[in-house]
Amino acid sequence: MSNQLPDWSNYRGVMVFVEQRESVAKPVSWQLLGAGKKLADKLEVPLMALVIGEHVENLADEAIGYGADQVYLCEGPELKDYRTRPYSRITLKLIENVKPEICLFGASATGRDLAGAIATHLPTGLTADTTELDVESHPSRLLLASRPAFSEKMMATILCKQYRPQMATARAGVFQALPRDASRTGKIIRIENPMKGEKIATQVMGFIEKQSGINLEEADIIVAGGRGLGGPEPFQMLQELADVLGGEVGASRACVDSGWIKHAHQVGQTGFTVRPKLYFAIGISGAVQHTVGMSNSDYIVAINKDPEAPIFQIAHYQIVGDLFQIVPALIDAFKQR
Ligand code: FAD
Repeated sequence: MSNQLPDWSNYRGVMVFVEQRESVAKPVSWQLLGAGKKLADKLEVPLMALVIGEHVENLADEAIGYGADQVYLCEGPELKDYRTRPYSRITLKLIENVKPEICLFGASATGRDLAGAIATHLPTGLTADTTELDVESHPSRLLLASRPAFSEKMMATILCKQYRPQMATARAGVFQALPRDASRTGKIIRIENPMKGEKIATQVMGFIEKQSGINLEEADIIVAGGRGLGGPEPFQMLQELADVLGGEVGASRACVDSGWIKHAHQVGQTGFTVRPKLYFAIGISGAVQHTVGMSNSDYIVAINKDPEAPIFQIAHYQIVGDLFQIVPALIDAFKQR
């Protein structure tokens, strides 16, 4: 294969798919606009957003507030809930007309389904579950989409040299949204609903909410426990600390695998990726499969009796000692505040 890159100069701009339900955007959409803005600025191109749904004009305005320069808006009753065929048809047509050089989607069930369907159809490459995004500017304009590989033992940077657009998905919590600026102005471009009046073979009958009642991905404070807890009972102590702080309880996989706590609490490669303001890692050693899911937290407080524990390498505050002494003392101290 020749090293000469094809001429893709008619593809310009970065596009982010805004995922919504009931006219409320998923936070990953705004986080991707934050990531997309950096790419668009570096390439000196507009940042575009695509909003599809019923009664979702509010999201077009929000997208502008979060950094989009142009928003493509497609509305209709047929588009209320995500379904592969109508959403992929709209997105494909838009990509064919607008020709963005980069398209970003959340690595949610919806984003994965939609991005996969589009990449197959075009055909182009799709890098799933990226944790870092950058671009080479002139002349290649290549998206550098990086993600952990080989059980997190290395980072792989994946390039899509031969096709456009370059596509990637990213999990919630990996990138940071820009602060919303309601005074920003941008262009909202309405696109025709191609599904108008059409019968769509699949129907959404309803949604069953998760039973766990916890939402790690959106928590500001997470109190996470590891194997150092020694069993399921000490999680009550962690829950008490989380309640005092208004946070949620997280866990390492070691605890989940031991049956001490449900998977809904697991942070890491095979659990949730989180980005809280404050993360307590209590009795957690800091294996890379755990830290990949929480290392972007604003502040990390690690409590471990082993001063050499790897978690201390990424912790902002390091408390060396027995968690069974430190956690009750923290609960008392926070209760008195
Ligand atoms: P350990 O590594 O056993 O660490 C326990 C820590 O507690 C030690 O550092 C010890 O010093 C400390 N300690 C013990 N007693 C006390 C005490 N009284 N006071 C204070 N400190 C104490 N792991 C995840 O967490 N999330 C994932 O999503 C995940 N996905 C994985 C995917 C794959 C493919 C693989 C291979 C592994 C995955 N793992 C995941 C597992 C990961 O490799 C580690 O085994 C796991 O994170 C270790 O959990 P831990 O830190 O709780 O336990």
